[in-house]
Amino acid sequence: MHINDAVFLEDLCPKFKLRQWRKSIHRFTGKSCIYCGKPSESIDHVLPRSQGGLSTTENCVPACLSCNGDKSDENALYWYRKQKFYDPRRAMAIRAWLDGDLRLAIRLLQWASPNSKVNNKNQEQDESKYEAA
Ligand SMILES: [Zn+2]
Repeated sequence: MHINDAVFLEDLCPKFKLRQWRKSIHRFTGKSCIYCGKPSESIDHVLPRSQGGLSTTENCVPACLSCNGDKSDENALYWYRKQKFYDPRRAMAIRAWLDGDLRLAIRLLQWASPNSKVNNKNQEQDESKYEAA
């Protein structure tokens, strides 16, 4: 251990850190599945751990249990293309997410589902309009 290392609660308690990280991933998409837009109940490894996929933000997307289970160990983009709910904008979002460009990914997801909670900014604006009315 290095003397200069600051000691964070997160370091002392890795489980806490993991939980915070999982929460933050769900928050990016307003708790909706990146594939189908339903509530995300799990985190999907885009490149499965069995194939060397890491638990990094770039490789982990919010997913509902049904998508997560159905996709299993398949390549996410190939699998996604075969789904009924396939949306090219979401496919682009997944690709951007994998590239680590979360801002672009979130913007594409907003575009794919303008009414979802992903669009936090507009929602706030709408609410303030509501109060003024
Ligand atoms: Zn889903």
